[in-house]
Amino acid sequence: GSDPRDGDRRARPPVSFELFPPRSDAAALALGRTIDRLAEADPAFISVTFGAGGSSRDRSLTVLRYMLEHTAVEPMAHLTCVGSSHEEANRLVREFLDAGVTSFLALRGDPPTGAGPDAGIGDLGSAAELVQLIHRVQEEREPFAQVGVPGVPGASRIRERPRPERVAVAAFPTGHPRSRSAHQDVDALLAKEIAGATLAITQLFWHADDYLGYVDRARAAGVTIPILPGIMPVTTPARLARLAELTGVEAPSELAIDLEIEPDPGTQAELGVAYAAQLAAGVLAGGAPGLHLYTFNRHEAVLGVLARLDLGVSTQLVNERNTAR
Ligand code: FAD
Repeated sequence: GSDPRDGDRRARPPVSFELFPPRSDAAALALGRTIDRLAEADPAFISVTFGAGGSSRDRSLTVLRYMLEHTAVEPMAHLTCVGSSHEEANRLVREFLDAGVTSFLALRGDPPTGAGPDAGIGDLGSAAELVQLIHRVQEEREPFAQVGVPGVPGASRIRERPRPERVAVAAFPTGHPRSRSAHQDVDALLAKEIAGATLAITQLFWHADDYLGYVDRARAAGVTIPILPGIMPVTTPARLARLAELTGVEAPSELAIDLEIEPDPGTQAELGVAYAAQLAAGVLAGGAPGLHLYTFNRHEAVLGVLARLDLGVSTQLVNERNTAR
């Protein structure tokens, strides 16, 4: 063909998605359809958030089980440890492993508001301790296995112990709201890697340089695990404002103004998708190892971002491209 990209179309960078557990039966039905659509994009994994204090445990498990039973996608469970005893955290990890989930995003979570500085933290004070606990629980469940050596009667060797698929942790390119310096955030990430984290996923950010600068600082401090940029297409002005409140990450004024003055919801959505796609292109150009897209439990906007980047992979898209040539 005459398409100049034909010759050197490189492997697509891995893409992953985040969902939250549905809050009603109707939302649960809609989420099943969303997951099916997201699965068509062949994600490396889809992660499911976990309500503070375990409030969403059963609903999170239901979504993860749906993925295991109905799709080929690897489910990743967010877990928080704030407010839990050691025993409770152990039981929680065991329960998710029993359900067949082997990838986790280990978080400390937020202590209840209004409590004193150390009140309500529980037995595990940081995500790093939860990372260690996940590894330990997994090892206790399936210790080193003795297996026979084929053709050598009586001989046995020790098979390597199965490891959790992935143990991810959170990273904060523009700083955790409670951290007192940029070093603290990088040090916290290094501590999580040393504890056994195999992947970091970032809080959302709005400028490629925020992410790229953070990765540079993390590498200089000795962090070696992949740091996946977390990107969210935001399609309404109200949601953009709410996100700034929730995350403590200031919204980009150019997008805020564009969304505010645009009356048509369809065009607002396009603006949000375009902004996210540009951000994603910027971090990929700077060496990001993939994209983690926050979905808000909708497939349209995140698949729109991938389509704009020419990263959508549904067969339908491929067929359309082939016919167009
Ligand atoms: P940690 O990394 O343990 O600590 C947070 C910060 O505290 C660090 O960045 C650092 O500044 C400081 N700190 C940590 N350890 C030390 C130390 N040893 N010394 C000094 N300072 C230290 N919350 C939920 O409730 N449910 C979810 O599903 C959820 N999903 C998330 C997904 C992503 C990708 C992200 C980025 C956040 C998510 N959160 C979620 C929010 C998270 O729970 C909060 O950010 C919480 O305040 C801290 O959790 P953490 O795992 O980042 O904690």
